Parts: sequence; structure tokens; C-alpha cells
Amino acid sequence: MAATNHRRYTVEPLSADEIRRSFVNSSRSLVKAMTLPRDFDVLPWENLDYLGWRDPKAPARGYLVLRRDEGVTGIAVTTAATGAPRRGTGLCDLCHTAHQVTDVSLFVARRAGSAGKAGNTVGTYICADLACSLYLRGLKELEVPQSDLAGPEVRAGRLNERLETFVGRVLG
Ligand SMILES: [Zn+2]
Repeated sequence: MAATNHRRYTVEPLSADEIRRSFVNSSRSLVKAMTLPRDFDVLPWENLDYLGWRDPKAPARGYLVLRRDEGVTGIAVTTAATGAPRRGTGLCDLCHTAHQVTDVSLFVARRAGSAGKAGNTVGTYICADLACSLYLRGLKELEVPQSDLAGPEVRAGRLNERLETFVGRVLG
């Protein structure tokens, strides 16, 4: 038997195939057009509650992929830049990190199945770079004072609960 690998992952690393098969709210052609994160080979899985990234070739598109009891679930989202200048701070609905308002984006997910085909969507404000896991662990720099002062483990737990709620709304 091989030596036990003591490395602890938060999200067990996902293969490109697993990711492509995981999307519940995306057409086959969109999945085919998806570009994986640039740093896919060196992702810090041990610090990720979910894999989130903006499409390097289509920045208005983003993806959230997570491991759940039911399996790997991928949610495709889109965001539209509003023309109006925005000021102040904004809060990510998923991880409750405070950002300059321009670093939080309203992402829209098409709902899965017939609801999505009928045009139903779910909208939520998320860290614009979809790096919630890194912010709440203090691994990415923040520009504004934070109101949520709980520790990373507590915040990661809450993030996972809110992710589950978000996925539930998309799945309907
Ligand atoms: Zn966030």
C-alpha cells in the first residue's frame, strides 16, 4: 500500500473532464466554448471552497464548480458591466467580503432545466473575480475595511451554506 498522502484539500482537485461534465445550467455549446482558468495546473485546491473563475476568453462569463454530496456541480454565470460609475463599497453575497463596489459584480445564473429554458434566472452579487475562498482566508489583498471579523473556518462554513442555497435556487 502506498504511503498515506497527508495533504488536505478543501476541494479535492477536479479534472478538466469533471468540470466540463458538471454544468447544470449551461448549453453544450457554451460548455464547449468554456476556457479553463489560466492557472489550472497550479490551483491552490487546499484553500478553495469552490473553484470560481472568469472565462479568460469571454470575461463576461464566469463559472463556479463545487463538490457536493450529490457530486460535482458547475454553475455558469454571466455579468454585465453597468455603464454608470459606481462608488463606495459592496458586499459579496456568498462570502460577505467587503470590496470597492467595482470589485463586486452582479452575476446572473440561468436556472436549470425547463425553468431556465423559459428564461428564469437567479442573480447574486459575488466577488468579481470569484475568489471568495482566498479573500476569506486573507490570501488576497483587500482594499476596504471588513465588517465580518469571524475567523476563516467560520466564514468558510458560512460560505459553503450560502453556496448550497445558491445552487439550490439554480436547481429549483
Ligand atoms: Zn465572495
